[in-house]
Amino acid sequence: HAKKNKQAYQVYDPQFDQHAVERLFLTNSLKQAIEQDELTLFYQPKLRLSDMTISHVEALVRWQHPEKGLIPPDAFISIAEKTGQMDALTRWVTNAAVSQYVSWQKMGFDINIAINISAANIMDKSYPDYVISLKEQHQLSDNAITLEVTEEAVVEDAQKATEILCYLREHGFKLSIDDYGTGYSSLAQLKHLPVHELKIDRSFVQHLSTDESDKIIVRSTLELAHNMGLSVVAEGIEDETALLWLKAQGCQLAQGYFISKPLPADVFEQWIENTPY
Ligand code: C2E
Ligand code: CA
Ligand code: CA
Ligand code: CA
Repeated sequence: HAKKNKQAYQVYDPQFDQHAVERLFLTNSLKQAIEQDELTLFYQPKLRLSDMTISHVEALVRWQHPEKGLIPPDAFISIAEKTGQMDALTRWVTNAAVSQYVSWQKMGFDINIAINISAANIMDKSYPDYVISLKEQHQLSDNAITLEVTEEAVVEDAQKATEILCYLREHGFKLSIDDYGTGYSSLAQLKHLPVHELKIDRSFVQHLSTDESDKIIVRSTLELAHNMGLSVVAEGIEDETALLWLKAQGCQLAQGYFISKPLPADVFEQWIENTPY
């Protein structure tokens, strides 16, 4: 009843309308954007806290729109998911990231790459077979590519996800659970997943230096993950206090604006050359 009433009396909201138009616009042009290479990747390093060397670089997609400028992924990933374009999008990202990896290797940078994948990409073997064939085609070594999949995506259909993740692991991919702590999964659900790494969501990391309850959550996550033999990445580190605290707690890997923002490939190359890492 309440729902019906609410709808009946809903007042005209120009703000909502604007969003709807925007979404329709983006939905129609996303397909074209993927086909016409309007997407671009930014790169953000993950450092080993033990010696501050680079462990991986995460590829993060942006849409370089001819009129609207740089559109962040949060504005179009969910549209891609809802309109069945996630396979095409992730293939584009994977292909671009692997090409970048190969050209960095030729330049003498041996940095492994991390790619974000979605729930739709682990529902069947279509995407896994694509990334396996790319790996073989470029003769990439095992562990050259980490696939980051959100906790939420894995919990959606845990049995299917486990099967596909095992398949990817057998083919030499490193697997990471992204946004850990936001998907309300239980330890029992995660225990059977064939993953190597947990990424603690940035909402628990951003305010670590001042928030006592975040410290408790992060400390217990580290203990749990280490007992399960997983390495842990803390993402969203914005200050040195948080970084040093995480290091003292035995967290292995670190990522965040304090180290570097995500950067275009050429700026990232300069960053590597100008930092002691
Ligand atoms: P994510 O995978 O959790 O990536 C981390 C996000 O946090 C990135 O936002 C990054 O710019 C941001 N970030 C990194 N360090 C800090 C920090 O210290 N402080 C704060 N406040 N933020 C930080 P971005 O690039 O806008 O990406 C947002 C999300 O979009 C990603 O979250 C990921 O879920 C999704 N995404 C990005 N690229 C791809 C992609 O190629 N494929 C898929 N499926 N999803 C992607
Ligand atoms: Ca990620
Ligand atoms: Ca994350
Ligand atoms: Ca996220």
